[in-house]
Amino acid sequence: MSEEKSAAELLAEKLRLKSENAGQILSDEEIRKADDFCEGYKSFLNSCKTERECALFFKFFAEQNGFREFDKSSKYSAGDKVYRLNRDKALIVAVMGKKRIGEGVRIAAAHIDSPRIDLKPNPVYEDSELALFKTHYYGGIKKYQWTAIPLSLHGVIILGDGTKVNVTIGEKDDEPKFVISDLLPHLAKEQMKKPLEEAIAGEDLNVLIGSRPFKSDKGSELVKLNILNILYEKYGMKESDFLSAELELVPAFHSCDIGFDRSMIGSYGHDDRVCAYPSFMATIDCGVPEYTCVTILTDKEETGSEGNTGLKSSYLRYFIEDLAALEGLSGRDVLSRSMCLSADVNAGFDPTYPSVLDRMNAAYLNKGIVVTKFTGSRGKSGTSDASAEYVGFIRRVFDKAEIVWQMGELGKVDAGGGGTVAMYIANLDVDVIDVGVPVLSMHAPFEVVSKLDVYMAFKAFKAFFLAD
Ligand code: MN
Ligand code: MN
Repeated sequence: MSEEKSAAELLAEKLRLKSENAGQILSDEEIRKADDFCEGYKSFLNSCKTERECALFFKFFAEQNGFREFDKSSKYSAGDKVYRLNRDKALIVAVMGKKRIGEGVRIAAAHIDSPRIDLKPNPVYEDSELALFKTHYYGGIKKYQWTAIPLSLHGVIILGDGTKVNVTIGEKDDEPKFVISDLLPHLAKEQMKKPLEEAIAGEDLNVLIGSRPFKSDKGSELVKLNILNILYEKYGMKESDFLSAELELVPAFHSCDIGFDRSMIGSYGHDDRVCAYPSFMATIDCGVPEYTCVTILTDKEETGSEGNTGLKSSYLRYFIEDLAALEGLSGRDVLSRSMCLSADVNAGFDPTYPSVLDRMNAAYLNKGIVVTKFTGSRGKSGTSDASAEYVGFIRRVFDKAEIVWQMGELGKVDAGGGGTVAMYIANLDVDVIDVGVPVLSMHAPFEVVSKLDVYMAFKAFKAFFLAD
């Protein structure tokens, strides 16, 4: 027999904003599907740790699923799948819809670069018979988190004759790894007094790469020489080839389940592959959509979206212009009628650090995909603030598809802030809102997300692509 509800309980049920935990309201079958989906995501994380690796993985995956390189002189019909690769670092995939492109397209935009440690152009040196790399970090990092952890090296080297050499070393168990050393606590009295921001200087992020000298009775810097010799044998490179290389150090550890209940995933690079992977998979899975669906997997978000592979460049606009030209339209005819989900992570509420987040407006793990109306800082500066009308549309789409979702703001007012690519797409006269997965320890070498939120992101992108 059910207990009678009081008038207040009934009224509260009708009127109050609900906050639901996906683990409470999803069926066991749905939870199983989410866990399965995340196994694919975890292996993707292990094989794709840089923007280039992500772009090429997604291109390969797309080709396996019938996507072909976009040809602006071709004719396309509903259900046709195309992609455009930008300099091996960013990828656009699109599925042609039943409606004319002139009615607008549905865009999802996520980034595939993550904070990391880049090599300087002239990186190799020897000091005290140890060989090291000089580095320049990429993106917003807390430098102390990047010391004393195993690192792997990824990227490309363009040799003097133009040959391109791909590098990945330190991912397999039997491969060597690299490390930025830190001071022992016994002698760190002065270092420990410094504010965290100053404890490890940018110029101190030097990476240990060798210690054994080249055997010879004459010569100087023989440890460095021995390393150069190994690099020559392995990659055919000389020291000058570092000048035309892009080499990136990332955490060498693999993704794994977190918690006795295995409800979370710990990994490097959730920001923003945790949105890139679900949005890409939703594109693969959207069948023959009403509207043409476009997913952008972009580079350079972590350094401000500058550069020809970042979203401040015109490569998205050019792609839309080429789509528009298929129907004899100009790009603006399509852009002005298009809608976008800017897919990027938000801060998950961390009970250990409650003071920086407003509990009423924070995103929580397991409460589903987080919709962020605006980002920015200091009085909504540097953001695209989505209109009430557009938020209303997204609400209806998500609710109709039974997506578990929540609204979240990045931190308390004036506590800090951050931005996404939303404003650059909004500047093209597109309706945009940020959505994404809440993350703990964002930008750390090892970040945490909830599996149910990852799956809800996938379902949300799909619902957006398929909504009328
Ligand atoms: Mn991000
Ligand atoms: Mn970020």
